[in-house]
Amino acid sequence: MNSADRAIATVVGSAVGDALGAPFEFGPEGAFSARFPEAGSGGEMCGGGGWEPGEATDDSQMAVLVAESLLERGELNLPGIFDRFQRWAAAGPKDIGLQTEDVLTNGMPWDLAAAVHFQVNLRAAGNGSLMRASTSAVYFARAGQSATMDAARRIAALTHGDRAAWEGTAVFHELIRRALAGIDPCSAIPDVLELIHPDHHQRYATVLAPVWHPDQATEFNGAVWPCLGSAVWALRSTLSFEEAIRAAIDLGGDTDTVAAVTGGLAGAYYGPAAIPAHWTEPLHVPLPGFGGRMLRVDELVDLARRLGAGPG
Ligand SMILES: [Mg+2]
Repeated sequence: MNSADRAIATVVGSAVGDALGAPFEFGPEGAFSARFPEAGSGGEMCGGGGWEPGEATDDSQMAVLVAESLLERGELNLPGIFDRFQRWAAAGPKDIGLQTEDVLTNGMPWDLAAAVHFQVNLRAAGNGSLMRASTSAVYFARAGQSATMDAARRIAALTHGDRAAWEGTAVFHELIRRALAGIDPCSAIPDVLELIHPDHHQRYATVLAPVWHPDQATEFNGAVWPCLGSAVWALRSTLSFEEAIRAAIDLGGDTDTVAAVTGGLAGAYYGPAAIPAHWTEPLHVPLPGFGGRMLRVDELVDLARRLGAGPG
């Protein structure tokens, strides 16, 4: 398997996790396997809670917005990404994070909106920048470790003023970069922990440790630390893409985002053939604010191929 295949599976895998998890958001632990006891039976893209079967949520919608900006500009253009986010938020997407919505609609310019929100609210370590990072992780992988982590932090900072969110997103970028090169992301964690800003190292070392279990989380998994920790746990404690996604959704809580992050990592690691076709067939990513466009799996594959070629 080459890195281009793994890039496709990163983007598609994340969107698949998002769409599978969406109907179970804020539900109890174990709800997914209670409804679908047998892995591989099909029918899991069930819809519900306002979502159509296979419909991806804000996680994947924002990932596509980032992707299209990167591809059209041929580089990281932060005001351009912010503009796309604002246009999308103004069109009334079915779901949008509270913090993201506030930052995108508070009338401040792109380089101040998130920082001002953080100054006022003091809490901005949600998982909303981590959830949308599959596409930028694929794009910047070829630029190397420091460039990909830098880009992750800067894109995260568009909506999240808390450095904790930047660092979690940077860790995700670097784990994907290594997975695209065929390295097991779980085995890369000790190395990658050393690249985190010192003020944030300990909290990530805790949730990314092999002995950590999501039951030990000290915050709801809508926060960046347990979200990333849970995704890594789901990958580490299972043996296939499908099992990893099932484990992620079974945690309950912010199921679409935990499964989207898990799906990115598991996709990069296991590759496209591991993603069940009955999950990709109904998959679709609506783009509110962009002329009623709706990306299906073929378009996501094409997007991932172009992202995989990297900057320049
Ligand atoms: Mg979502």
